[in-house]
Amino acid sequence: MTTPPKEKEPSKKLTPFQTPKGMRDILPEESPYWEKARESTADIADFYGFGYIEPPVLENIDLFVRGVGMGTDIVEKEMYTLKTKGGDNLALRPEFTASMIRSFLENGMSRMPQPVKLWYFGPVFRHENPQSGRFRQFYQNGFEIIGGESDPIYDAQVIVAGVRFLEAMRIKAPLIHINSIGCRSCRAIYRKKLLDFYRKEMAAGKKKGKVVCRDCERRMDTNVLRLLDCKDEACVELRGRAPSILDSLCSPCRTHFKGVLELLDEIGLPYMLNPYLVRGLDYYNRTVFEFYTEGENIALGGGGRYDYLAELVGGKSTPAVGVAMGIDRIIGILKDKDIDFGPRKKDKVFVVHVGETAKKKAFALMEEFRKANIRALEALGKDSLQAQMKVADKEEVQIALILGQKEIYEGVVIVRDMKTGTQENVPIGKIVEEVRKRLHKN
Ligand code: AMP
Repeated sequence: MTTPPKEKEPSKKLTPFQTPKGMRDILPEESPYWEKARESTADIADFYGFGYIEPPVLENIDLFVRGVGMGTDIVEKEMYTLKTKGGDNLALRPEFTASMIRSFLENGMSRMPQPVKLWYFGPVFRHENPQSGRFRQFYQNGFEIIGGESDPIYDAQVIVAGVRFLEAMRIKAPLIHINSIGCRSCRAIYRKKLLDFYRKEMAAGKKKGKVVCRDCERRMDTNVLRLLDCKDEACVELRGRAPSILDSLCSPCRTHFKGVLELLDEIGLPYMLNPYLVRGLDYYNRTVFEFYTEGENIALGGGGRYDYLAELVGGKSTPAVGVAMGIDRIIGILKDKDIDFGPRKKDKVFVVHVGETAKKKAFALMEEFRKANIRALEALGKDSLQAQMKVADKEEVQIALILGQKEIYEGVVIVRDMKTGTQENVPIGKIVEEVRKRLHKN
């Protein structure tokens, strides 16, 4: 998994400034992965009819307090907040979903044909403890379907979009963990059953010592469902005996969940029922899901239905469902497994110059290739032929074009096939056509 960002040790600083803890630069060598992630998201969105949306990075704090929920780790401990000079209380977004609903309501999207399908790609910020696959600034893409009916087809569609994204990123055998956490009515009944169970266990186990972890003792009062997805050994053992939410679902929620599973069956997507999956955010109802892959125990993405979120942030009741994928984690796995997307396009040409006059001509030639939409590279800042050819080799270009004093005088360019080493002179007026012809042949 991705190497965790290094602890910042002020005494050992080699450079005056370093990235803040849990944050990092995405450097050019990683860019093919990011380009692939963005392109794949856009392709999937295009196919399934999602429109791109880019909300601001800062939102009013209350959007998250009311939307994501007071009892959640994100709101309690992880938000980056600030007060502006004008006195507004803002937060760097810790997730996108609340912004999607805010934008849906603010921009009158309920008056558009329903449902509205939106996709996004961008950074989110959570003040968590950095560790393997866990950053403080990380990237998510997502697909959200807002409005219309609370129809299982939309749950299935966002799950499929998530799976197709993982497949496009060459993640092997994506596995869906799925559960239903019911609606307000049946969840309230289940919550009470669960609380009774844990209270009894706590009372019985008091003399033996720890029954659940410290965090879960606290969560019993704030968010008892979260006890089910705690990773602490004692909590995991105890939940095996806890009542299952699936036995408490009301009839409409049961039918809804069955509908989602039948749709996944219809297209042969494998899934695993996971009654302990509740997700950390308050706004979910009915379907919740997460994506995993073999050999990794951290989620690569997740989502669910959030029919109550619009109301929670002051809007009209609006059914909605969505998925968010963790791009940094997915890219971390690809890098660990040496899965390489390579440079974006190999069909490119390198312009080499020898001498000042040729340098000017080469500079102008670059613009001709740009106009012709042909990828051309150069090292115009280097004067030595050898140094330029070294760059051309490294970039694995197919063709090098060499311009020297003699060539300028004769009005030609030397065209060198980098694979075979063969060279020929081509009149400079015909060079763009010649390059186009050669690149297309390959
Ligand atoms: P969530 O909605 O919190 O489940 O986030 C969706 C996805 O984002 C998760 O399944 C992870 O893949 C990813 N993710 C969440 N938190 C982090 C983090 N701190 N660093 C990197 N990726 C994260």
